[in-house]
Amino acid sequence: AKNAGRNIWQIFKPGMNALIEKRRALEVDLDAGIAKGEFELFLQPRVDVVSAEVTSYEALLRWHHPERGIVSPVDFIPVAEASGNIIALGEWVIHEACRILALEENVEKLSINVSPIQFRHTDFHRRLDDIVRRAGVDPRRLELEITESVLIDDDKRALKILKELKTSGYAIALDDFGTGYSSLSYLSRYPFDTIKIDRGFVANLGDEGSAEAIVHSIIDLGGRLGMTVVAEGVETLEQASFLARSGCDELQGYLLGQPQPLERIAVSVPAEVVA
Ligand code: C2E
Ligand code: CA
Ligand code: CA
Ligand code: CA
Repeated sequence: AKNAGRNIWQIFKPGMNALIEKRRALEVDLDAGIAKGEFELFLQPRVDVVSAEVTSYEALLRWHHPERGIVSPVDFIPVAEASGNIIALGEWVIHEACRILALEENVEKLSINVSPIQFRHTDFHRRLDDIVRRAGVDPRRLELEITESVLIDDDKRALKILKELKTSGYAIALDDFGTGYSSLSYLSRYPFDTIKIDRGFVANLGDEGSAEAIVHSIIDLGGRLGMTVVAEGVETLEQASFLARSGCDELQGYLLGQPQPLERIAVSVPAEVVA
């Protein structure tokens, strides 16, 4: 038993250390990275299945790290959340999104991801308004993507903030729907404009599992509640045509366009995508 224990330790120790080391290193570099402007927003199109047109883009944050190259938000967002840097980083995202909206007439709307920590920050709405107003951007061109984790802790306060944001004109999207603590009652209680079906369900379409039934129910319910239903992570023609036939409003995924810097955006809409 002693030996086995030692083996397990030997197997897991290096990997865990590497992860902790990496996080620590990223945390140290994050401040400097923000100050030096090492971040960039990549944009990924959302395509309407009826008109086959791009309705908006999701802004996805990238870090051009001087030594590590492009670092994924999956790696640095949790670090920024743990260190508190997410507030500064999140404001940079708002600034940059507004800069793009003010500059690019072709970009009608942008969605930005808002961390639960950023959302709960006391000043969030006021600072958002400040930045948007100063950029001269119509708040209706900006959509805020939040996840269910925003709703579970302080339900009443979250609802109040969401209603105030709606009153100011911002659109609100519920991201990664169907994961986490998903409760259908969230959908009717909160003023969402958009629901994004988590890409896990899209990936499982056609596997004879429950994904089809779940996706159908989400589309049906979202439609009845007057929300725009978006499927994310659409990679194949089969997924696209299933979703289009099922009444999904908009599609997002590699099939239609990769997240890219503004100047390199390419969108292709195969015939199967159009309902
Ligand atoms: P998310 O909001 O669910 O974003 C969608 C993710 O799916 C993105 O990963 C996108 O690149 C990826 N994706 C798009 N199409 C496909 C596809 O067809 N197949 C597959 N497999 N993946 C696809 P990314 O850019 O690495 O971002 C990961 C997560 O990081 C985001 O998940 C979001 O939670 C977070 N994130 C990104 N940018 C920001 C930001 O500005 N602020 C905050 N707070 N979080 C961000
Ligand atoms: Ca998102
Ligand atoms: Ca998502
Ligand atoms: Ca996600």
